[in-house]
This record gives sequence, structure tokens and C-alpha cells, in this order.
Amino acid sequence: MIIGGGAAGLAAAVSAGEFCKNSALDVEVAVFERDDRVGRSILATGNGRCNVSNVRAGADAASSFHNGEFVARVLGLLGARAATADGAGDQCRSDGLLRSADPVFCFFSDRGLAFREESGGRLYPAANKATSVLDVLRAAARRAGVVECCGRCVKAVEPPRTPSGRFTLRMADGAFERADAVVVAVGGRALESLSVEGVRVLSPRPVLGPLRTDPAWTRELDNIRLRCKASLVRTDRSGKRRVIAPSVAGEVLFRKYGLSGIVVYDLSRFARAGDAVELNMLGCDASEARFELRRRRERLSHVFGGDGITCDDMMRGLVLPQIGRVVLKRCGLSGKSACSDAVLDALSATLSAFSFEVQGMGDADLCQVRRGGIDVASVSDRDLQALGVPGMFFAGEALDVDGPCGGYNLHWAWGSGLVAGRAVARFSIGGRS
Ligand SMILES: Cc1cc2nc3c(=O)[nH]c(=O)nc-3n(C[C@H](O)[C@H](O)[C@H](O)COP(=O)(O)OP(=O)(O)OC[C@H]3O[C@@H](n4cnc5c(N)ncnc54)[C@H](O)[C@@H]3O)c2cc1C
Repeated sequence: MIIGGGAAGLAAAVSAGEFCKNSALDVEVAVFERDDRVGRSILATGNGRCNVSNVRAGADAASSFHNGEFVARVLGLLGARAATADGAGDQCRSDGLLRSADPVFCFFSDRGLAFREESGGRLYPAANKATSVLDVLRAAARRAGVVECCGRCVKAVEPPRTPSGRFTLRMADGAFERADAVVVAVGGRALESLSVEGVRVLSPRPVLGPLRTDPAWTRELDNIRLRCKASLVRTDRSGKRRVIAPSVAGEVLFRKYGLSGIVVYDLSRFARAGDAVELNMLGCDASEARFELRRRRERLSHVFGGDGITCDDMMRGLVLPQIGRVVLKRCGLSGKSACSDAVLDALSATLSAFSFEVQGMGDADLCQVRRGGIDVASVSDRDLQALGVPGMFFAGEALDVDGPCGGYNLHWAWGSGLVAGRAVARFSIGGRS
């Protein structure tokens, strides 16, 4: 029984169903989904386009993911199996726009999904719609004999009380079901309302979303986008500064309550209250910025004549007027202030590292994943089975794993689903034979 018909659950269902069908064994694979249809969470991804994966997600696993070593070992199992068991791997047959040896890519392309690659290695369905990903998954599940049971919300998973016993799944409506083996793939949000015996659950918290910062500096900038470099800096009690996440170029979206945009989402995975997001609005360091601003002052003086260049003159055409005003406010300057060397020093320091103190996550509903969930220390990295509960497997965001934006989180959902699906099928067959 697969609990949860999202990305990981459907991948697990296809993997388990195909394994049982190919082994000609009479094992029923059922997906229990609380919603009235499976895959709704997939349709919401990538603004309805579904950023399915990233060309770097497999190779970069250890460095990109939270609990990356665990992720690398789990995804590694998939690669080894794909290359040996079904001849996929480095000779993947893809009729799509792209070819790749990655086992997640092969899983989809072998079942008909064509891909397109966008900036940063992001992979999307060639049809540019999340529905085509879901269609491919559901068709594969149907062919493998997987049963979809929608509108079934599982409240508790109880392990067998005897060696030959079965799992009991207590439903929200008071009914219960029995299963020989289960895959828990309920995502990150639902874990708080599902009781799972026998594993350690770390309290989930939202990440990969906007950050709340002092609104005094962002209120006037609501909805303005800025291309810049952003980094995350932490200052310890002794006043020593440490860069927690190095500078990355991207687009920041200012909100009344703080900062948003993909580059901020990625920083949010590492941020805690008291840290600072530093925006480099000019893309160069403070000394280069000072040099450039002095040259700018000279050019403006040359064209406009005299030495009456003001801060307003300096900001106009360099940044948007609203941003210029906030930069001047941070420096304690007015637009009419003359551009002395000291003023240019202050402006260049602020433009190259405008610091926004983090107060917390901005809007939990906008966060794309939850950090926390099933502790990976409770789960085997060889088959995603609970260490203390034979027959109980986990996949996707239910585990304490998260990655950056760009297709990494779905890559983990599919990849872990494939591993857990194969493993639960093997367990069920082993248990019967
Ligand atoms: C707005 C948004 C956009 C995103 N875009 C991307 C993107 O483009 N690329 C990317 O890589 N990642 C993206 N993500 C993250 C990605 O969606 C998740 O990492 C991924 O869906 C996790 O898959 P999952 O199967 O573990 O969980 P989910 O996809 O959340 O699926 C869990 C399923 O379990 C069901 N369920 C929950 N509780 C129960 C229960 N008690 N009983 C029965 N069923 C239950 C749910 O209804 C759901 O169908 C996005 C996230 C959000 C919120």
C-alpha cells in the first residue's frame, strides 16, 4: 500500500507495480490518496509547467541536498540497478528532445515523456505542462495494474503486532485497512497529522520560500524586482562575520514583509533569525564600486558642468528610483546631498552589500518544501526501509531531505519513490515465498 499519490507515491507505485507484473506475481499495489484525485501537488509545480528534474541533480546530490550523503547513496542504488537490471543507464533510449543517462530521466523517457532543458540545467516536459508528466505517470501505473484509491485519508500506520501479522492503516473516517507492506509518501506538510509508529519524526518547518526581514527597508519596494547577487551572512557573538551561503546571481523580488525570488528561496534553506541577506546591487565589490562611482561623478560633472552633482543625480539611471531612495535612506543621505568622497564611500558600501536582517520565514504557504520529517537515521540507505519496522518504507519529502530550487526536490521525490517502490515489491514477494 502506497500512502500518498503525489510525486514520490506515484513513482513508487509504478516501480512496485511493474516489478510485480514483470515477476508474474499476484501482488496488488494500491495508492491511498486523501485528495479526490492523485497528482494534484505535481500539477502545482513549476507554475504549472513542472520543473521535473535538473541535469545536475544526480551528480550533485551530496553537495546540493540537506542530508546529501544519504541522498547520494539512495540515488546511487537506482543508477546501479538501472544499468545492470534493465539495460538502461548510460545507453538510455530516449525519443525526446534530450538524452541523458540519469535513471530518473530514463524512467520518464522510457515511459514516453519528452524533455526540454532550460537555464541552469532545469528539465521541463517538452509539452511545457505539468499535466503531461502526470499523464505519463498515471498511464504507466494503470498498465502496471496499480489501483488508485482517492478520498482515503490515512490517520495512523500501525506495524504488525506479530511476525506474521499485517500493517493496520487507520483511516480518517474511522475505517481501517490491512497491508503486507507500506510506503509512506505523504509529503512534508502532512506528517504532523499522520501517526507513524517506529520511526523518529523531526518537527517539519517550512523552507525554500520568502524571508521576513525588517519591513522598514522593503515596504516601499513591494513588487519590485532587482537583478543582483545575494549571499547569506551570519555574525557570531564575538562579532565575527561568516558567509553561510556564498553570493549567487539572480532576481530578488521585494515584498512588503521582506525578500522573495528564487535566489532568496535558496538562501532560506540555510537562514535563521539574526542572519543577514546581503544584496550586491552593482555586482562588484565595494572598492570597485567606489572606483566606478567616482568615475560616474566625473562623467556627470563633465556633461552637466560644475561640481554640483547630487545623490539624486548619482542614483538616477543607476537603479530604480524607489531603490535609490531606500539606499539613500540607509546611508542617512538626502537626494540633494552633494556627492563628496565620503558620500560616495557610503553609497558604494551600501550598493555592494545592502544588508537585510532576517527575522524568519516570510510566508509559510509559499514555501515549496518542509525541512524535517522522518529522520534519515531511522531509515536504511539501502532500500529506504525503517530500521526498526520491516515492511515500512519511505519516499520523497516525508523524509528529512530537501534541495534547492531548479528541479532538485522533484528529482528526489521520483528517485526515492523508484527505490522504495522496487524495495516494497521485493519485500512483499519475499514475504509470500
Ligand atoms: C508551489 C510549489 C511549486 C513547486 N515547484 C517545484 C518544481 O517545479 N520542481 C521541484 O523539483 N519541486 C517543486 N516543488 C517541490 C515539490 O513539489 C515537492 O518536493 C514534491 O512534490 C514532494 O513530493 P512528495 O510526493 O514527497 O509529496 P507531495 O507531492 O506533497 O505528495 C504527497 C501526497 O500525499 C497525499 N497525502 C498527504 N497526507 C495524506 C494522508 N494522510 N493520507 C493519504 N494521502 C495523503 C497528498 O494529498 C499528496 O497527494 C514545488 C512545491 C510547491 C509547493
